[in-house]
Amino acid sequence: MDYFQLIYYIIGTALVLILAMFALSSLREKKQRAFRISAVSAIVLPVIWLIVPFLFNHSGYYFISIELLSLIFLTLFFAPIGKKSNHDFGIANARVDERDIMFARSSYKPGTEKYEEYYGKNPEKKKTDDKISRLPRLLEEGGHYYDPVLSKKVEDMFVIEESRIEDVDGDVASECRGTDIDSITREIKKQVLDLGGDEVGICEINPMYFYSNVGLGPEPYGSEIVSTHKFSIMYTLEMDYFKVETAPKIGTTEESAKQYLKAQDISIEIARRIRSMGYSARAQVSGSNYQLMLPPLAYDAGLGEIGRNGYLISEKFGPRVRLGCITTELKLKTDKPKSFGAVEFCEICKKCSVDCPSGSIPRNGKLTVRGVEKWQLGIEKCYQYWRIIGTDCGLCMKVCPFSHPSNFIHNIFRFGIKNSVIARRLSIIGDDLVYRRKFKYKKMDK
Ligand code: SF4
Ligand code: SF4
Repeated sequence: MDYFQLIYYIIGTALVLILAMFALSSLREKKQRAFRISAVSAIVLPVIWLIVPFLFNHSGYYFISIELLSLIFLTLFFAPIGKKSNHDFGIANARVDERDIMFARSSYKPGTEKYEEYYGKNPEKKKTDDKISRLPRLLEEGGHYYDPVLSKKVEDMFVIEESRIEDVDGDVASECRGTDIDSITREIKKQVLDLGGDEVGICEINPMYFYSNVGLGPEPYGSEIVSTHKFSIMYTLEMDYFKVETAPKIGTTEESAKQYLKAQDISIEIARRIRSMGYSARAQVSGSNYQLMLPPLAYDAGLGEIGRNGYLISEKFGPRVRLGCITTELKLKTDKPKSFGAVEFCEICKKCSVDCPSGSIPRNGKLTVRGVEKWQLGIEKCYQYWRIIGTDCGLCMKVCPFSHPSNFIHNIFRFGIKNSVIARRLSIIGDDLVYRRKFKYKKMDK
């Protein structure tokens, strides 16, 4: 056997090993179709790899051609090829009023002062919101995926969350300790990870990410949100892959609630520790108590990119994360936004948009909203769907190719996607083939 034959058989062995690993990983992920395709390929490929050289009489030209093709393929898949998208999305130039967000609007009861006041000023929203308000509430009996046991469990988790809201802030120690920014930043990040955070980053807060007025929570409704906090400690919590796979059923909502509770614990504890060092800090937690919008802050803190589905896409976990946040006046060393090809991938993928049962995710380009270029979600339609099914859906998180578990096989694709436009195109074709592109779920109008 000459040198070229040897390389040929090494390439074949490597391919079979990768296919076998793909099959194993699919088995672990309970992806039957992906398992069947990769397992059959792992069996058929070596047969082809061994037979074809006979057809060419073991010609050296055949071996060299296959090796050259392999080299070209590897280069096209992993080398930086293709233009990067413009990552200058603009800077937010206006604040969102929390009274306008869907959760706030869904809390206004007809006949109440809030209701009359809000729809007096925003009559164009009344028809849609009234229609939504006639649907069962989230987790309530009547929702399509209502589960008497799990829905109640999730509701109880949200009640626990609400009950701890007063712990988000507190007294600040009179004496300031710790002045070395580098070491404090390192220590705080370490503490977030020690407490259970999966990825952590820090950013300076664009004040436009604070809501302008209170729409939810214990503070007086409509009061202006004022904060002296200039820095935000952001972190992700990975959501369990198998729980997300249950979307749009209640399992994914259960997992969301679990991670929100965990985020609440971590943020409350970190904020308390910072206050004990003599600096004001506030845990920004779910349970109607956010003062600001988390995804753009997580982007600024280098935790990921904002995808077509509106979620933060983490490099490691995709959109399969929940976000945690602590704001503080303590000066910290900030991280930079990073790009790993997610926006470029979203531009051509559109899988979440195809699969969104409510048609809330745009298939076309971005819009400029309050100075920022973004894919603008139809939040009313999305929330209406939540109320129809009784869960927080999460299908756009489940079908996203970035949501696959972070393991050797999927990370090969992540690496290619980061660099090469060819890898992006091929990964989308491969993902559609192996996992399907279009799934069947309860539609909006049924
Ligand atoms: S499904 Fe595709 S388009 Fe949607 S967020 Fe994920 S990568 Fe982007
Ligand atoms: S949560 Fe469901 S309804 Fe809302 S955008 Fe995602 S897929 Fe669409």
